[in-house]
Amino acid sequence: MELSKVTKNTNPEYVFNDPLHQLFDEVDTIAVRGFDQNRHVIYWNKGSELLYGYSNEEAFGQKLEDLIIPEKMKSSVIEMFNHCLKNQEKPAASELTLRHKNGDEVCIFSSHVLFTNQDNNTQMYCIDVNLADVKQAQAQVKFKEHMLEATFDAMSDLFFLMKEDGTIIDYYANNKNKLFVPPEAFINKPIFELLPTSVADKLKTTLAKVISHKGVECFEYELTMPQGLVYFEARISHLPEHNQVVTIVRDITDQHKSTEVIRHHAYYDTLTQLPNRFLALDRLSQLINKAQRNKDKVAILFLDLDDFKKANDTLGHEVGDKLLIESANRLNQIVRKEDTVGRLGGDEFIVLLRGLTDDHNALAITEHLLQSFREPFKIDGRELILTLSIGIAIFPDNGSNCDDLLRNADSAMYQAKALGRNTYSFFTDEMNARMMRRIAIEEQMRGALERHEFEVYYQPQFNVKNNEIIGAEALLRWHNPALGNIAPNDFIPVAEHTGLIVPIGQFIIKQALSFLNKWQSEHKKDYTVAVNLSPRQFRDTDLVSFVENALMNESIAPQRLELEITERVLMIEQSYIDDALVALNKLGIRLSMDGFGTGYSSLSYLRRYAFDVLKIDRTFIKGLPANKADAELVKAIIAMAQSLGLAVVAEGVETKEQITLLNELECDHLQGFYYSKAVTANQLIDFSTNYTIKL
Ligand code: C2E
Ligand code: CA
Ligand code: CA
Repeated sequence: MELSKVTKNTNPEYVFNDPLHQLFDEVDTIAVRGFDQNRHVIYWNKGSELLYGYSNEEAFGQKLEDLIIPEKMKSSVIEMFNHCLKNQEKPAASELTLRHKNGDEVCIFSSHVLFTNQDNNTQMYCIDVNLADVKQAQAQVKFKEHMLEATFDAMSDLFFLMKEDGTIIDYYANNKNKLFVPPEAFINKPIFELLPTSVADKLKTTLAKVISHKGVECFEYELTMPQGLVYFEARISHLPEHNQVVTIVRDITDQHKSTEVIRHHAYYDTLTQLPNRFLALDRLSQLINKAQRNKDKVAILFLDLDDFKKANDTLGHEVGDKLLIESANRLNQIVRKEDTVGRLGGDEFIVLLRGLTDDHNALAITEHLLQSFREPFKIDGRELILTLSIGIAIFPDNGSNCDDLLRNADSAMYQAKALGRNTYSFFTDEMNARMMRRIAIEEQMRGALERHEFEVYYQPQFNVKNNEIIGAEALLRWHNPALGNIAPNDFIPVAEHTGLIVPIGQFIIKQALSFLNKWQSEHKKDYTVAVNLSPRQFRDTDLVSFVENALMNESIAPQRLELEITERVLMIEQSYIDDALVALNKLGIRLSMDGFGTGYSSLSYLRRYAFDVLKIDRTFIKGLPANKADAELVKAIIAMAQSLGLAVVAEGVETKEQITLLNELECDHLQGFYYSKAVTANQLIDFSTNYTIKL
């Protein structure tokens, strides 16, 4: 290749420049072209061929202006060429756009050299460097610049370019107002001088981290601005090649506010703005940890508004809400800032008192809290009195964890209610013992039915007029190997609470009817058996069909079964109760109102439901005949029951005198220890077989 080229170009000029040409032949990134004084090509290296598309053969001998000079440049090029040659002055190097063989523009940077040969003829050499790459690179840079600018414009963030020592070199803000200080005040100054010390320190640490490690670091800070507290996030990125750092500052106040709102929702009660159950219990567990370390005490006050439900129901929820808000305010006013008042839900609040000492004791604050409720609540022009019942548990005396302490404070609160409300009660050993027993009962009750630990006893009932046995009330007994004999008043509430009363209740009904069947056939006589029904049993949708089937299975006429219910059942005031009572009544079963005279005895219940029997509670019988008030009351009840067509049973009859009086008052039936306590099925059959009417 080299050889052929050399042999081809045998003109004298070429030979003259031979070493130079050899050099240029080697370089193909630079286009070198030689022209004689008549502008004929005398040299055209490989670089020229690559750049302009003409081969050495094609170009050789051609005129300068005929190859790569665009039409409109031709005359000026010729003029310039002649001028330079004439004055022996080389043309200035310049950027030019010439033409490729295929017509494309070729952008070059052209320098020139003049040579004079042996014949004293001047030759011009053009040395062209392709600017395509440079141009492209420049375009890239421009593009990046524009893109960056557009990006900056589109972002509301502030950008700072800084030296590694924090000196601000440059900044960008699409809105200058966001800078808060004019650029002159911070350009070429350390950024730390512009920030409060705490923020500057944070920035310094983060900066050091970014410089020593790779990657982006970010931190949040807040500044007090004329418009209030503003939250920022700073992201810092290192440019190690330039020993510079880019800091991007973003206003995250809105974001901060919305996370704050979400946080508030999760931890605070929306109505009263008090910490909710979750946060209050979380604080309690923190207090417990702290108290453990400091070896001091924490008081947990469980507060319940007395009669709030009544107020809420009668005055409306709006008034109820206002009462709760005002209650929260009053509670908050009494406790110290560092103590917690929380709302557990409904009308239940919790107060946590930390660091208890002699002068900061739970009792004083509790009395204060009660005191603060003595003042009537003024709501919507109305004055309302609302009182509090407070139960107090102390850590570590009454429990070592949140659950235990809360439960114990709760049961102390119930104690306060039992003491007559508007008062407080400390959790006591006795309450503890009661609770432990309740837990044990609950434990033992599971499986007790399957283990045949329950037995139905029967207490006979008598006709006052002739002292004949008319039937019996079924009363459940529980013999448990671990706990011994447990009184129904202790275990029935537990069975109701756990729902076990449903299967247990079904057992009682079956037993009672099977006993009645046996009893009746033994004596060829009709008796009535009374079975107690708990409120919880009515939630069993199978109750009515169960009773119906049980009657059929034992071939018992429905009117031989009496179901005793208390007002607790009727106070539920739900349609399923009404439906069940109506259905039971339709079956022909007798309904008995038990414990009449206790609680909220209301005549309206007696009118509304198809009761057949009314049982006067034994608390009213107890005082007879001596207690005149009781006697009057019993007399009134009997008169009223008669007017409604109800049979009256007096229970708890223990003396002959009571019987005489009840007979006078025209009570129908009697039941009590005077005749017999509740006994087993067999004992009752024996009893009734051997019973001789005594008067
Ligand atoms: P209750 O339905 O009012 O039952 C009457 C209670 O008074 C029975 O107590 C009975 O033994 C007692 N008693 C009867 N005569 C006298 C008397 O002359 N003097 C005194 N001091 N007491 C008398 P017991 O059996 O301990 O039952 C207590 C409560 O437990 C019952 O009150 C009832 O509410 C509930 N209970 C008992 N058995 C059952 C049952 O099978 N099912 C349901 N759901 N509850 C039951
Ligand atoms: Ca009863
Ligand atoms: Ca009763």
